[in-house]
Amino acid sequence: MGIPPHLPLEVSPEEVRELGAAVVSRLAEFVAEVPRHPASSAPDMAAVAELVAPFTAAPPEEGGDLSVLLDRLCRAADLAMETAGPRVLAAIPGGGIYTSALAEFFTRTVNRFGGLAAAAPALTAMEESVLRWMAQDVCGLPTGSSGILTTGGSTANLSAVVTARHIRLGESLENGTLYVGAQTHHSVAKAARIAGIRERNIRVVPTTGRLHLDVAATAETIRRDRRDGLRPFLLVATAGTTDAGTIDPLPALADLAEEENLWFHVDAAYGGFFRLTERGRRRLAGVERADSVTLDPHKTLFLPFGTGALVVRDPGALAAAHQGTGSVLQDVGSSDALPDYAYRGIELSRENRGTRVWLPLHLHGVAAFRTALDEKLDLAEHAYEQLTGMPALDVPWRPELSTVTFRIRPRDASPEAVEKADEATRKLPQHINASGRVLIYSTVIEGRQAIRMCVVAYATHREHVDEALDEIAAAVAAL
Ligand SMILES: *Cc1c(COP(=O)(O)O)cnc(C)c1O
Repeated sequence: MGIPPHLPLEVSPEEVRELGAAVVSRLAEFVAEVPRHPASSAPDMAAVAELVAPFTAAPPEEGGDLSVLLDRLCRAADLAMETAGPRVLAAIPGGGIYTSALAEFFTRTVNRFGGLAAAAPALTAMEESVLRWMAQDVCGLPTGSSGILTTGGSTANLSAVVTARHIRLGESLENGTLYVGAQTHHSVAKAARIAGIRERNIRVVPTTGRLHLDVAATAETIRRDRRDGLRPFLLVATAGTTDAGTIDPLPALADLAEEENLWFHVDAAYGGFFRLTERGRRRLAGVERADSVTLDPHKTLFLPFGTGALVVRDPGALAAAHQGTGSVLQDVGSSDALPDYAYRGIELSRENRGTRVWLPLHLHGVAAFRTALDEKLDLAEHAYEQLTGMPALDVPWRPELSTVTFRIRPRDASPEAVEKADEATRKLPQHINASGRVLIYSTVIEGRQAIRMCVVAYATHREHVDEALDEIAAAVAAL
């Protein structure tokens, strides 16, 4: 048997097998090759238009050959940053474990409706078990807490801001004010703008020298704003900042939010799952006092891109903020035993998003994730020690999670020397990354350039971090 030239939309069981096997066999080759891939095969974006031209054809009237199309897909996937590999230490790497993709393949094939529990109650119950695990076991929120799986941290933050606004401000958004820090992820301000909050009422409060939200200054800003007739409604703390992996003083900020009657949101998109480890649980104490927490399974639970989570103390608040139904749904039953995710979030039609989290957790066990996260903490600590041993570098902050930041040390404290060191730091990534052995990005922290090494890919081990350290040492020596 072969796959017929005109493949019907309704495929036979043999075709399911044969088509699937063709894809899986390509993926097995891909997975075998990943460790040998350079950290990035993405071209200079100035020259990209020509390279992608062969991939832009409109779909033909008659179908084509799967192996030809798979060839094209593989070539397209190869022209990329190697986010599935161990060498990407830039931004917050993804990774993406294979077993999650398998769950996704299953989910997409059975294609149950994930917006309303009645459409697939057992799959909904599985999704809910994952959310309760995240809310209660990982974050330490009380019994009854749960949430919604989103497409990422940005959409989770959006639902958090909308919920806080709905619960604390009601119908009138006038003078509603929220508090973030300079290290808060930009998706929070973006969410606030989308949620109708005035730009000038997104208050960026000061941070301390250790890049933590300054609690006293935050309290002062909130009180002054209240005296000025504003309506403070939301305080956002970050549990693992994107730039430097620092953790805001969560217990003190929880106290402040309580005293000032603000919604307390913790953005733990990067840091949250480190609570599975002993060190992480200690450092991330206070998350359990949040009203809502953003987590990003596609970061620190190593899932493929497209899975975030918002967990909340009171799922009723989520439902109140995201309510809305139509008469076309009047025949669909509901039960107090199971949530309708359409009424907890932005989407109506959606897949059963929980399966891709559920299968890896049940197949590998939670301990496998804990061990991997512990390893990333060790690797960051190792990198910190090695980098502090390089005299040309300043390594200003000991890693609180798995990100290490550093910069070229200025010759002296004069503004000229600092500016020169900043220029050198800005140019460093292109030298570090030139060989393709690693990919590292820079950022700007408090107006100064900094390089960040972020170890989150599940496949990144000691040898890859050592390679990165070699490249850094070579790039610094060549300055
Ligand atoms: C990555 C990140 C986000 C945004 O999450 P996406 O999944 O990329 O949308 C928000 N907050 C923090 C702290 C992050 O690290």
